[in-house]
Amino acid sequence: MSELKAALADAYARGDDPKFRSVAANGDEIWSMGTALFVLPAVPAGAPPDLEYALRVRRDAILSGTCDECNASLGADLFGRLGGVEAATAIIAHRRNCPASDENLFPQLRRFREARESTSTDEILDAASKATRLMVEEKVPVRRMIRSKKFEMWSRRLLDETLAVSTGKCGHLQVDPAQTWNILLGDTNWNCNQCWEYQSQEIARGNSPISTQEDFTCDHCRTVKENLEPLILRIGTFVLHGGLCQTCSKRSMETNEKPRRKRNGAKRRGRR
Ligand SMILES: [Zn+2]
Ligand SMILES: [Zn+2]
Ligand SMILES: [Zn+2]
Repeated sequence: MSELKAALADAYARGDDPKFRSVAANGDEIWSMGTALFVLPAVPAGAPPDLEYALRVRRDAILSGTCDECNASLGADLFGRLGGVEAATAIIAHRRNCPASDENLFPQLRRFREARESTSTDEILDAASKATRLMVEEKVPVRRMIRSKKFEMWSRRLLDETLAVSTGKCGHLQVDPAQTWNILLGDTNWNCNQCWEYQSQEIARGNSPISTQEDFTCDHCRTVKENLEPLILRIGTFVLHGGLCQTCSKRSMETNEKPRRKRNGAKRRGRR
């Protein structure tokens, strides 16, 4: 026990960044910090903001050793060895008025689970689609919308193609697919919003899953350009992140439906 406490104290003291590792089959998340491994409950997809916040406070308290909200500190109850590794239950005595306390969190979690069980799949998907739209609107406040019908059709084709060639998805999406799916165009792995955040941080650190060449390739005309405009395509719960060259970007915003419809009409009349 004292060894375990010392290892934790050491990990906290060194200020090691906790790292998200994977999702277990039951949906729990595996995190590591220093030589310690943590099994933490995941924030369920579609959780209301209060519940999400409470769960994150609870998780951060375990990963940092102290609760930000009520200052309670981590204790541990050693319960034995798992595969030769010492295992303990983390115990944090949150104050009653802390959002992360058992008294506040558990009833919320139960209500959320009951509500989700009694909701139809269609409704859950509708809610996930709406949440995805709101997320994009919030993250990209200044947007220029695709207006060209041709580009709209291209977007749908691109989604089909991306789904066909993608080979992986994060554990959260495997456990619960009714949430936002993010992908960097050119990559083959889908991410939930949380894992997309981690991936974005990795990309910012210079660890991109795609080649530099692909990074500078317009996703529409496939030419390599030094400057690409960011492209975010949302179709239902799917969000494709990529880039468009200036020519394609401009064309995507042109409304050229009217003259084309006229031309088509003229052709059809001609054939009759
Ligand atoms: Zn607390
Ligand atoms: Zn994920
Ligand atoms: Zn282009």
